[in-house]
Amino acid sequence: MKKVFSEIQRHLRGLRSLRSQIFVLFIVIGIIPSFLVGQAIMESYEQRAVEQRISTVQNQLLIVANHLISNNYLASYNSSDQQYSVSEEVIEAELEMLSNLYEGRVIIIGSNCKVIKDTYGISEGKILISEAVIKCFKGQSTSRYDAEHGYIEMTTPIVSTTDRNADNSANVTPVVQGVMLTSISDDSIVSTMELLNRKALILEALMIIAIVFLAFAISKWLVQPFQRVTDAIHEVKAGYSDESIAVTEYVETVHIVEAFNQVLERMRTLDNSRQEFVANVSHELKTPMASLKVLADSLLAQDNLPVEIYREFMEDMVSEIDRENQIITDLLALVKLDKKVQELNIATISMNDLVELILKRLRPLARKKNIEVVFESDRQVIAEVDEVKMSLVVTNLVENAIKYNEEQGWVKVVLNADHQYFTLEVSDSGPGIPEESLPHIYERFYRVDKSHSREIGGTGLGLAITKSAVLMHRGSIMVSSREGEGTSFWVKIPLNHVTG
Ligand code: ADP
Repeated sequence: MKKVFSEIQRHLRGLRSLRSQIFVLFIVIGIIPSFLVGQAIMESYEQRAVEQRISTVQNQLLIVANHLISNNYLASYNSSDQQYSVSEEVIEAELEMLSNLYEGRVIIIGSNCKVIKDTYGISEGKILISEAVIKCFKGQSTSRYDAEHGYIEMTTPIVSTTDRNADNSANVTPVVQGVMLTSISDDSIVSTMELLNRKALILEALMIIAIVFLAFAISKWLVQPFQRVTDAIHEVKAGYSDESIAVTEYVETVHIVEAFNQVLERMRTLDNSRQEFVANVSHELKTPMASLKVLADSLLAQDNLPVEIYREFMEDMVSEIDRENQIITDLLALVKLDKKVQELNIATISMNDLVELILKRLRPLARKKNIEVVFESDRQVIAEVDEVKMSLVVTNLVENAIKYNEEQGWVKVVLNADHQYFTLEVSDSGPGIPEESLPHIYERFYRVDKSHSREIGGTGLGLAITKSAVLMHRGSIMVSSREGEGTSFWVKIPLNHVTG
């Protein structure tokens, strides 16, 4: 049962292919109309054959009718003596011949609707009245084809012309003296139709084979470009090619290929940045390790060193280990932010409290350089944010403003809000960021002055983390800086978190 079900499913899936749909369409468009046309031709041929038959027989009947009149057949039959003349015998022979020729029956009805002559000899003397006979007595010959019973019935008036005025031929009045009721077999028509039907069937069979063959070839040809697109994509997938693909036959294939090339380009960019990131991470992690090794080697190389030297070297080694730790912590934070699926842990918090708390934590660092840290806020800002990630944003910006600052400098943090967004501005009196570096400051591991940044404990990941966290909150970040004139960062984030 399961097998049958899966077989049906497989067939249905086959029908969903463009090629099989084109194939079916061709079959439907090709076979049905030609079948209908064949049928119509056969029908019109049958009609025409019947009409021809009727007209031939009617002509013959008219000749016989004229003979009947000219030989006074009806009149003599009506007369009491009922004696056949020679000419009557000739006419009867003529009627017999007619009925034999057309495999039919001829009945001659006199003016009193009495059957005078029946070539079958069964109805003579009987009264025969029918709609067709009455019509015929009015001078109208009729014909009717009964395909079901296989005969054609027709009536022919036997008309005599009474010469009222011998001098004026225009006064000749036709009078219907009797009716010839003839029924003939349609055998010859049926046999011709059968023959034609057989030929038509052979022709139709040949046509179906040709149409199926054509539909197969055309459907294959039409979907070829799509097959080429699939093959090209497979090649890229299998790694044989990383070239952009081009299939220009249809507008549709051009669109598909364009979209695929864009995805490919994006993948390449992602791959490049991943490789670059891995290279940067390895380099950054190796630097403290190299320093550690140098320090340890130099301790090992000398014997009997004073304890103070050991202590000094150990302190240096501890600070290198701290640095390595810092890089790993930042990397982990960044990787966590990179995970798109990661949900934000949204809570309604006071941004004022959060900023105050972070400034309290960072003030000791500022005091080392005698930097004044000022916080300004006109109002309470209550926002729906992820507290941990928002802490990363504020901490990184304020920490940078302190780290990259002069002795005796200042840092100003301004928190504000309208009905939709809150803004956090962090400005400092530091050396500023060179214009050419501004587009790169959010890149991972980018540092304006590498050695100085490392000296003061920078990893080059702070602003990358900040930007990711801001974007996760559907916010934006801007910077304005001039060398020697300090730096300002603006962060703008919606007060209410919108999911989706
Ligand atoms: P780091 O961890 O090295 O501070 P960031 O990503 O936080 O890395 O910053 C990138 C670079 O941008 C820093 O190396 C520094 O040169 C520059 N920068 C960041 N903030 C400031 C600032 N307030 N003033 C001057 N330069 C800054």
